[in-house]
Amino acid sequence: MNLRHVTGFCGFQVLLAVILLFSLRPATSQTQPDSVANPPDYSPLVKGDTLEIKPESTSTYDANASISTWSRDHATALSLTFDDNSVGQFTYALPMLDSEDMQATFYLITDRMTPENWAIAKVAAAHGHEIGSHTKSHLVLSKETPLNQERQMTESIRTIDSLIPSQKCRTLAYPYGDYDTVTLALAHRHFMAARGVGSYLNSLTPVDMFMVSGRGPQSDTDSPSFNTWLSEGEKKKDWIVEMFHGIEDDGFDPITSTCFHNHLKAIKAKGDVFWVAPFARVVEYIKERECAKAELGAHNDSSLTFTVSDSLPDSLYCEPLTIRIKAPPRWIGVEARQEGGERWSVVRSSPDGAYLLFEAIPDQGPVILTGRLEPAKTTGTVKQVEIPSSISPGGRKASGNIEAPIDWVDVRGIRTGPAGRRRFRGIPIRGKQGRNPVAARSG
Ligand SMILES: [Zn+2]
Repeated sequence: MNLRHVTGFCGFQVLLAVILLFSLRPATSQTQPDSVANPPDYSPLVKGDTLEIKPESTSTYDANASISTWSRDHATALSLTFDDNSVGQFTYALPMLDSEDMQATFYLITDRMTPENWAIAKVAAAHGHEIGSHTKSHLVLSKETPLNQERQMTESIRTIDSLIPSQKCRTLAYPYGDYDTVTLALAHRHFMAARGVGSYLNSLTPVDMFMVSGRGPQSDTDSPSFNTWLSEGEKKKDWIVEMFHGIEDDGFDPITSTCFHNHLKAIKAKGDVFWVAPFARVVEYIKERECAKAELGAHNDSSLTFTVSDSLPDSLYCEPLTIRIKAPPRWIGVEARQEGGERWSVVRSSPDGAYLLFEAIPDQGPVILTGRLEPAKTTGTVKQVEIPSSISPGGRKASGNIEAPIDWVDVRGIRTGPAGRRRFRGIPIRGKQGRNPVAARSG
């Protein structure tokens, strides 16, 4: 039984008592417990006892790296998309999005853009919004010849890319949500992904990135019912793609600007639940997440090097992935760097122990994490011991509570009991210094 790493308690359980079960076997016993080389000291713990603590080292550290389902470990992803360049999207929605610091996707019908709207779209792109294609003139594509279908796509891409050079037109929204097999084949050729019209949430990893569902509010939909959809997505951790047309104008299915603003406020009120990001960025994240690997390289007590790589073309796929690892021993802070620049990182706690999140762009060189270390302690003191009268017949076993020292992790001779309890029996118990509280005793 490997008992080297037991870090199951988090900070708020600091003073939680743990249960000791001493196996008080007679010296003549022929059945020594487990395979302990030297007979252990089974004497009960006493308040004020000094305990030896070995600081945990990263030499045996297992990062247990995984990629978060959504960026920065948000519960779900939400993309706000706008079709048809109706005037209210620029006059109402865009300023509201900017003031809430949310980036969206605007699917433009390029033939219907005015010079004023192009100027607005250019600024929007500079603020991180995505400008995508809703084709050149919004025809029912499946009724067009293959050549016309392709022109509807390529000419809109060309116009967007020439007028908004700060980004690339990478995704498409099918006019009327309509497509046939030719449309799909052409969309694959010219875009990274495409949004249709549907009333369902998209799964964590859509089967077909060219049939992503977008759902919109009805004209008479006020925010509360629309917000119900947010709750559904939150519960399922799926990708929510919302689709808007008219905002306080004569566009399709218009809603009031107040309704739209209330919707943004409802999203914001959820705090960290939603990763609100343009359509193309979510597509990038999903595709990278599905093929990327994070590998731990050189490391010591205060620094770790990770290599994050994927099999996608780096010019198109450069969305930072969020990597989750077990927090290295005694780290209380972290800095992450990749390619000379700083990357987002944070240490958080959970019932399963502290963990560390950091961002990395795949194939952009190693990420170097450096930690601020808590000073190592080599001794600790038992704070409280109670041995109740629950000694079993024959005096072979005793149980008791010990108040866990605040900074102990990694106890040997431990068997995990019910939540909030740790059981010890028959072998020496040693504690190590760390953030997580578990009682221990020198053997
Ligand atoms: Zn449309």
